[in-house]
Amino acid sequence: MQIIIGSGIIGLFIGYKLLKEGQKVTILDINNSNNSSTDAAVGMLAPLIEAKPGESELFNLMIKSKKIWNELRKDKVFSNEVDLKKNSSILIAENYDDLERLKFKKKFFSQLGFNTLLLNDHDTQKLEPNLNSNLIGSLFCDDQNSVDPLKLKIFLKKKIKMLGGKIQYFECLEKICFSNNKLIIQNKKLSAENVVIACGAWTNKLIKNSFNFDLPMIPLKGVSFLLDGGKKLFNHNIWFKNIYVSQRTNHIISVGATEEDKGFEDAITLDEMYYLTKNIWESFLDVENLKLVDIRSGIRPGTFDGYPIIGRVGQISRNILCAFGHYRHGILLAPVTAEIIYNQIVNYKKFPEEKFFSPERF
Ligand SMILES: Cc1cc2nc3c(=O)[nH]c(=O)nc-3n(C[C@H](O)[C@H](O)[C@H](O)COP(=O)(O)OP(=O)(O)OC[C@H]3O[C@@H](n4cnc5c(N)ncnc54)[C@H](O)[C@@H]3O)c2cc1C
Repeated sequence: MQIIIGSGIIGLFIGYKLLKEGQKVTILDINNSNNSSTDAAVGMLAPLIEAKPGESELFNLMIKSKKIWNELRKDKVFSNEVDLKKNSSILIAENYDDLERLKFKKKFFSQLGFNTLLLNDHDTQKLEPNLNSNLIGSLFCDDQNSVDPLKLKIFLKKKIKMLGGKIQYFECLEKICFSNNKLIIQNKKLSAENVVIACGAWTNKLIKNSFNFDLPMIPLKGVSFLLDGGKKLFNHNIWFKNIYVSQRTNHIISVGATEEDKGFEDAITLDEMYYLTKNIWESFLDVENLKLVDIRSGIRPGTFDGYPIIGRVGQISRNILCAFGHYRHGILLAPVTAEIIYNQIVNYKKFPEEKFFSPERF
């Protein structure tokens, strides 16, 4: 039995992969969990746009995961259920500073081996007629698409149950003990060959309480909201300087996101709402027709060096693995994370580039 703690996108993807490969899986989570990062995520799958100078290892990992997403997209049932689309992204310039920034990005993207297209105001508006005419240009980035994270969670939970996996909820789960292939939680003993800890931003708390071992991380709050556009308004994912939007097939527009170091605070404040709505108000036409559907806050699992923490935690036990710290890339990186954990558990195989995301780097 492989036990996974945490049923955010990372825990669910790992569970699904292990079950598909013939492993027995139980996933544990807590009741009434708030602020799961996955529940607030927009679901962009855009490695190029997320690329930063000096982060080539992370970029290569994102590209690897994006290739798995592209394979998954060939399954039409899966794609339809989770709204996984092959579409592209447009980065908008609303002033000359933005335009200079996009020119710099174009150069950087071409150094990474990707061609993008700088468009003028007229051509941008032809692609997206529902954007305000105050824009002055854009950068078109092909095949930087998106998925609906909430639909994805529903799909994965359904598949996990169909494949014989279990998802169990505890009132509270603050400490675990693990020895001789037994996981002990509140006097309950569960057989476990391996335990994968995938509790997002809460992982460090659980590991510290349980094993007195610190894996440095920072919770980073993010707020997003959902609007009902009523009809198809946008043809692409659209990125402004501060916010990004993705319209689903059902016309819901997901808008993200704020980013602040506020610990585990979950209240949504007026300034966060203002930050998101101000940008929408300045950039969209007919805002009076957009209806608010939901507003969410999630805690991104950030790490001190900005890289995820995936793999065996040799400092604790060979049979305890971690999969967390995906910061703003967890939806994109979920498939490759599942692949890494599967290879470590089942094939004892390591990725050659493993060092940069290994827990043993600390
Ligand atoms: C506003 C916003 C927008 C984002 N947009 C994108 C995007 O467009 N693209 C992208 O790739 N990423 C995006 N992200 C980042 C992405 O959401 C995260 O990287 C990803 O969801 C992390 O998944 P996770 O499973 O590690 O954590 P979570 O989704 O937070 O899940 C953690 C799970 O662990 C459980 N848990 C916590 N403590 C315990 C415990 N003690 N015992 C058992 N279970 C426990 C929780 O209940 C929860 O189910 C966004 C994040 C935010 C906040």
